[in-house]
Amino acid sequence: MIKAVVFDLDNTLLDFMQMKERSVDSAVRGMIEAGMDIDPIKAAEKIFSIYWQKGVEYQEVLDDFIEKELGEVNYKYLAAGIVAYRKAKEASLVPYPYVNSTLQKLAKMGYKLGVVSDAPAREAWMRICSVNMHHIFDAVVTFEDTGEHKPSAKPFRLIASRLGCEAEDILMVGDWPERDVIGANEVGMRTAFAKYGDRFGTVHSGADYDLENFSDILKVLELEAGR
Ligand SMILES: [Mg+2]
Repeated sequence: MIKAVVFDLDNTLLDFMQMKERSVDSAVRGMIEAGMDIDPIKAAEKIFSIYWQKGVEYQEVLDDFIEKELGEVNYKYLAAGIVAYRKAKEASLVPYPYVNSTLQKLAKMGYKLGVVSDAPAREAWMRICSVNMHHIFDAVVTFEDTGEHKPSAKPFRLIASRLGCEAEDILMVGDWPERDVIGANEVGMRTAFAKYGDRFGTVHSGADYDLENFSDILKVLELEAGR
């Protein structure tokens, strides 16, 4: 019987990619406004290509971008870009529709709630706190807790033990089939694919359930209770 629901963070609870896109667009506008002569669309593409090379959490992305464009870091452009990035990030990091209301319902129904994220601890907690979700979860596992990314069994086993549940009694919800679904399946968890957060046009998620909406979790738990 399902006793706990565990969530991936980015693109499952939070619309992370929308935040990244809006923040980068804002940074580019900020740098242009400060006087940098760049094409906004090409600049955003170049910034994303740095992210894909160095990781999406890479913090010196604008330093690298400006250095590549100008041969050196111009600190006026850099500061303008960072300030604009942060303002847009603050405004655009939001949960998907129905996340807050559904989490509240699940907590009231007595389900334990957890997060397993591959994000670094500091960034993961910053995102959780910035959307005011730091009190709703019974346990959170980030990359630093095990030093291994999903689909390694370690983060899944750790969240189960922190929640005091058997893997079989956990429903794992995530947007990345190769990491969230496969990893959770292998330790014996039930799985739900966050289809609403999918950016790759996934056809077969391999999960026990596909979620069109975050609130579909409530229907899934009803079905699970009747199994
Ligand atoms: Mg994700």
